[in-house]
Amino acid sequence: MKIVGRLVDSAENVELEIKNGQIYSIVPQPATKPSRTWISRPLIDIQINGFGGYDLNAENTTAHDVSQMVESVHETGTGYLYPTIITGASQQMAQAISAIHQASQDQSIGRAILGIHIEGPYISSIDGPRGAHPKRHVRTPNWDEFRRWQDIAHGKIKICTLAPEVEGALPFIEKLVASDVIVGIGHTNATTEQIQNAISVGAELSTHLGNAAHALIRRHPNYIWDQLAEDSLFASLIVDGHHLPANVVKSMIRAKGLRKTILISDAVHLAGMKPGRYRFTNHEVELTTDKCVKLYGTNYLAGSALTLIKGIENTVRFCQIELPQAVSLATQIPAELLDLKDKMGKIKVGQAANLLTFEWDELSQLISEPKLHLIN
Ligand SMILES: [Zn+2]
Repeated sequence: MKIVGRLVDSAENVELEIKNGQIYSIVPQPATKPSRTWISRPLIDIQINGFGGYDLNAENTTAHDVSQMVESVHETGTGYLYPTIITGASQQMAQAISAIHQASQDQSIGRAILGIHIEGPYISSIDGPRGAHPKRHVRTPNWDEFRRWQDIAHGKIKICTLAPEVEGALPFIEKLVASDVIVGIGHTNATTEQIQNAISVGAELSTHLGNAAHALIRRHPNYIWDQLAEDSLFASLIVDGHHLPANVVKSMIRAKGLRKTILISDAVHLAGMKPGRYRFTNHEVELTTDKCVKLYGTNYLAGSALTLIKGIENTVRFCQIELPQAVSLATQIPAELLDLKDKMGKIKVGQAANLLTFEWDELSQLISEPKLHLIN
């Protein structure tokens, strides 16, 4: 099989040949007319709660739901993901983790699920920072509970988002780091010092920076500036144009730099569905034509319906950066955070042919026709 297109690594026009699941050759092509097709590594989404009608955080999530979600998200160019379980009753969270583990026994699902992201329940209970997480299930860190989930997951929990100011958070972060779990700071009301302390014991990520925050906030200092200024923290952003205004995305990416920014979808199950009215966590919500999930009849956001590839497109437009730079924020940079060695670096001859191709219209700055090629 041959693919003609431009490599995101070099923007060079090439003909890439795949044989027996491997990249067999990459031959430069005359650059008289740059191809509209681009070739990149598959996208990695480190935070996704559902897709295409399948909700990981619903009651009684099954392995079938997980598999269906993975298959529908593949159609959008996301090859690898960290299904994300949010604050809930211990047993319900355990059930969802178990469903993800069971689904991963299937080879094609297992290769896509690189780990599980646990977001909550050890977060701020305050309105604003808590976001849409149910207050009655917010609690302080409990290592026994986490260990139980990790056992059910057979060690697959790789990311945990928590608020570092809650009682017992620091020793809990130390234990997570010692067991190779990446710690994200999120849904937090932490002070400058509490953020510093979390970093000093190993927190590495700001989860959806700028969201799950108070509607009104002291101008400075505050937990957004404090995390933004901290060079050691990666920051994940929801670039759907609704969760963060374009100017905020641009300012945050300028502050963090392209080596420390990660795009996420943080999608709920309504992502990939038709616009309309739906029931979601016992509320009536509306999915608008511009992919905004709102509480019906209000302007309150009730989740994200973003696809990661659309996030890349938005980032190019919001920040005036090059397409390959934006693609790296959903491929190379999350791979660096998660230490995914085989998913880092340039596309080369001899590698497994795990690739994504898509069409890019330079003039309208729109991406279309994402196609995944996944071998292992
Ligand atoms: Zn969140």
